[in-house]
Amino acid sequence: MPRKLLILLVAGALACAAAGELAASSPARASSACPWLNPSSSTDARARAVLAAMTLDDEIALVHQADYVWQYYGVAGHIPGNARLCIPDLVLNDAGQGVGDQEQGTTAFPAPIAQAASWDPGLQQRFGAALGREAWQKGVNVQLAPDVNIARVPLNGRNFEAFGEAPYLTGRAAAAEIQGIQSQHVIADVKHYAGNNQETNRMTVSSDVDERTLHEIYLPGFEAAVKDGRAGSVMCAYNKVNGVYMCEQPELLTKILKREFGFDGFVVSDWGGTHSTVTAANAGLDMEMDIQPGQYFGQALKDAVLSGKVPKGRLDDMVRRILRTMFRVGLFDDPAAAEPGAFAADVETADDVALSRTIAEEGTVLLKNAGPALPLGSGKRIAVIGEPAGPAGAANVYNGGGSSHIPELGSKADVVSPLAGMQQRALASGDTVVYADGSSTADAVAAATAADVAVVFAGQEDSEGTDRASLALTGGTCTLVGCTPSEVDQDQLIASVAAANPNTVVVLNTGGPVSMPWLGGVKAVVEAWYPGQEDGNAIAAVLFGDVNPSGKLPETFPRSESQLPTRTAQQYPGVDGHAVYSEGLLVGYRWYDARGLQPLFPFGHGLSYTTFAYSGLSVAKSGGSVTVSFTVRNGGQRAGAEVAQVYVGDPGAAGEPPRQLKGFQKVFLQPGESRVVSISLGPRAFAAWDVASHQWKVGAGRYRVFVGSSSRDLRLSGGIDLDGQALGQ
Ligand code: BGC
Repeated sequence: MPRKLLILLVAGALACAAAGELAASSPARASSACPWLNPSSSTDARARAVLAAMTLDDEIALVHQADYVWQYYGVAGHIPGNARLCIPDLVLNDAGQGVGDQEQGTTAFPAPIAQAASWDPGLQQRFGAALGREAWQKGVNVQLAPDVNIARVPLNGRNFEAFGEAPYLTGRAAAAEIQGIQSQHVIADVKHYAGNNQETNRMTVSSDVDERTLHEIYLPGFEAAVKDGRAGSVMCAYNKVNGVYMCEQPELLTKILKREFGFDGFVVSDWGGTHSTVTAANAGLDMEMDIQPGQYFGQALKDAVLSGKVPKGRLDDMVRRILRTMFRVGLFDDPAAAEPGAFAADVETADDVALSRTIAEEGTVLLKNAGPALPLGSGKRIAVIGEPAGPAGAANVYNGGGSSHIPELGSKADVVSPLAGMQQRALASGDTVVYADGSSTADAVAAATAADVAVVFAGQEDSEGTDRASLALTGGTCTLVGCTPSEVDQDQLIASVAAANPNTVVVLNTGGPVSMPWLGGVKAVVEAWYPGQEDGNAIAAVLFGDVNPSGKLPETFPRSESQLPTRTAQQYPGVDGHAVYSEGLLVGYRWYDARGLQPLFPFGHGLSYTTFAYSGLSVAKSGGSVTVSFTVRNGGQRAGAEVAQVYVGDPGAAGEPPRQLKGFQKVFLQPGESRVVSISLGPRAFAAWDVASHQWKVGAGRYRVFVGSSSRDLRLSGGIDLDGQALGQ
């Protein structure tokens, strides 16, 4: 949200003053008066023991924030600890591309969409652990990440903050990240539950979605986060679902999340997402974060409990959920730094910076490579063109805008620009680099004409708070403090450069798909997303071939808006307050496959500097699951990694989309090396949500299994007959 960033500097001064007083409320870390500090009891028993010692006022104080946003050391939310009961402060802060809000001296990692493009849960877990450690050292013990909302509409300004359009990939990425964060004694807060798929009218719009679509597309990311990741916290979203505010939804909060998914942590409202006291509390909201501290869950909640409108047992349940999670994740036993120290502590380490670079490299997607134009050779004259390549432009696109933005300011401005990265790399390979920032097309064309290869950087910064107006790559939308909106028509710039130099390479720094009217005229296209502070080092490594690209698209790149599944105003952005999800299950590649449409670049697509061959598919039932095995061979001259993808096609009677991603594995292979990949598919891979019985069911029939390099580059196919019973359904 740009609003937040604009007041960053002013709020900083207030925060320092306010923090001085509030820090005094930090609890004693150990006390014989607090027997629950002894870690030998179960987390449930410890939480029960604290609860038994609490007064009504103690309980109320734990379920709402005490300060305005950023008032306490610049963090998003703060609930003071209770010294008498030895309860530590709860310090909640954003988000999924680093430790942000007003915290400085933290690492700016690549945006989550880039993380997802790595298709590497192991890397995602390492990222989570680095994020958790930086948070913990900053005194943050609830990290407001990951965002698992599905990219239903490619124009959504927050898609960069999440993991793309595929529920399965999203769930894998989220669970891994949460495990990493929570390994550092920091609670992960998975958000925004649920149906928060656009920024336009986000505070009021109702996402009208049917039960089956909700379970198959919009909830699995949360389910995996809770069941596989064991997320300690869930944030309910601003929007409504089927006419009811998400933070007032008994069906989604209590029945589905808490009972069916078995979520035993706490639900916190998005900032300003609470709209009532009694309705929200009784629906299952456990903690209010608001614009006005304690507006609904302060005195109003106390009154409601005293009058019986909210049962005391419900308040106890809120508090027990919060305490239990604090014990389970280690907030009592391994407390974070007592004070966040927003403007002081530098917690960035060399390992974190190296990890940020690795994620950027692994998430970079080589979309097109005719010639092949890439990797760049040695002894070449290279024209680097475009605003995002230079220091000022890179400062706009190293990550996305809004609450998840990671400030890189003053002496902590560590962003390596593509120009700097390429100049440094060119020295090693005997290349020469000239730069034209693109503000003058004539200068750019002159530089391109005199060069062997032209590399044009184009980008735009998406941000929380607004959706993009169209898929077109326009001048940069500038939402950061101190940045100047670009006037450059980037499509025109690329076309002009491509006309001047047949060896033109385009690098995109975008939060999602853009249309590419110039695609036929350029040799290569690389999607580098928002790559974090190691931007220039990572892209230079990929362009020069030190790193063989292995990222794959987590989101379909459409040819134009007319191809989108959400083409009517009723669907998006909605009419009269309702966005109707009438495309149902046909989200992302499911839509393109069902309608036989050829997108610009399909889901799962990503090229390499080597080639991979697939062979020997076997699909066999083993116990309660199905094992899919095949061989992948690196048939080229370079070492590299391939993301082998498994798609399942249900029997026609199931009414499912033609093919759905149900498994994947990233394999690194030396030239000539082969590896047998074995992927186990559990019952859920074959199940559809049955609306009549409100549960998952595996229907009887023949299921097709496809294996390949993208959703449209399927190299092997097989099948298996299932009767449902055999998989325990
Ligand atoms: C965003 C959340 C964020 C919160 C706290 C809200 O505007 O939607 O994602 O965690 O602010 O900054």
